[in-house]
Amino acid sequence: MPQMDRTQGYWRPELETMDPQARQEYLDKRVAEIVAHAYAHTPAFKQKLDDLGAEPGDVASVEDLSNIPITEKADLVALQQKNLPFGGLVAAKLKDLKRLYISPGPIYEPGEKKFTDDRWTQAFYAAGFRAGDICQVTFNFNMVPFAFWLDECLQMMGCICIPTGVGNTELQVQFLKDLQVQAICATPSFLAALGDKAEAMGLNLKKDLNLQAAFTAAEMLPESLRASLEERFGMILRQSYGTADIGCLSYECYHLDGMHFAQDCVVQIVDPDTGQPLPPGQPGEVVATNFDKAYPLIRFGTGDLSSYEQGQCACGRTAPKLTRIMGRVDQVTKVRGMFVHPGGVQQVAQKFPQVEAFQLVVTREANQDVMTLVCELGQEMADREALRTGIERQLKEVLRVKGQVDFRQPGTLPKGCKIIDDQRKWD
Ligand SMILES: [Zn+2]
Repeated sequence: MPQMDRTQGYWRPELETMDPQARQEYLDKRVAEIVAHAYAHTPAFKQKLDDLGAEPGDVASVEDLSNIPITEKADLVALQQKNLPFGGLVAAKLKDLKRLYISPGPIYEPGEKKFTDDRWTQAFYAAGFRAGDICQVTFNFNMVPFAFWLDECLQMMGCICIPTGVGNTELQVQFLKDLQVQAICATPSFLAALGDKAEAMGLNLKKDLNLQAAFTAAEMLPESLRASLEERFGMILRQSYGTADIGCLSYECYHLDGMHFAQDCVVQIVDPDTGQPLPPGQPGEVVATNFDKAYPLIRFGTGDLSSYEQGQCACGRTAPKLTRIMGRVDQVTKVRGMFVHPGGVQQVAQKFPQVEAFQLVVTREANQDVMTLVCELGQEMADREALRTGIERQLKEVLRVKGQVDFRQPGTLPKGCKIIDDQRKWD
């Protein structure tokens, strides 16, 4: 059977390849619409604008969104507990729902009868899923919306869903083999577990299974793990990012190098202190606005840290890309005015295999922040000074803050210590 092309094309070409200027105008229009809609139909959002002394007409563009305070997950829980079930955040009537989802919190979420949000479908297409694929969905179908959204989006693109949920590794391998499943939705660690189990069952992953494309989310995907899974199964593996509240926000294309912003939502990277948008390359909180008429979320703070880059991609998509998720906003420290996050520190340390353990210590000397990367080396180095210079250069380049290096004897740092130890006192 000839292999179909899984590397090119788009689910929503008119949006995914839109000229950036035209997209800006399109998004401005969509923002104005959803703000007017949410104001008219969701009491919680109306209250928010009223508190600002603003009217819907004052929020007519993506830029205007920055004036609206960010709504965090904790706010959803608090609003709902005051006004069950949805805290005045949902515009849809109960009779228009077919499911009620429950996310940890608890947060109650509406499942609309008519599901039209195709952002995960865009992600599937970019990951190489095609109409007619049989697809095993190994995410959790208990209470939370994610696996159901995937199921809806697979239907939308003409795939056939096998709703296996999590676990049952051996049975799942049997389904993959018996049904010659072409596509799978799974965490990277579960894909690895499936591969191990299949091999333990005496199967050849490439010959006995027929996996062509894999979609992953909800877990970090190290490049080494991606490479090994793609090689073992002989498939394309692409990741996507979103949250259980606001849905898909970005996804990788065939050409990798970041995750394109999903179409038909607004993704912003903002300064966690001020809520103001940051320029490309600067890490900040991912804040998003969807255009969901049933459950509009305007300026929803994900609590995740990332940065974005603009530019051409060989795939033809014109949307900016999230670089990667670097950690959580609550683990971030500000040093000399710059946000420093654990993921960035890790990124620096990983470039130097000689460094076996590390911790970034932030102190204050003569009213200046001092940043020191404490490093334990695996062996005695002949050229410590060259290594020191190399690490210091990377600290400056990756974290954008000047830092120093302190080499210590192995065993000095406690096992499993925090990546950033902020020792500054502010009294
Ligand atoms: Zn691309």
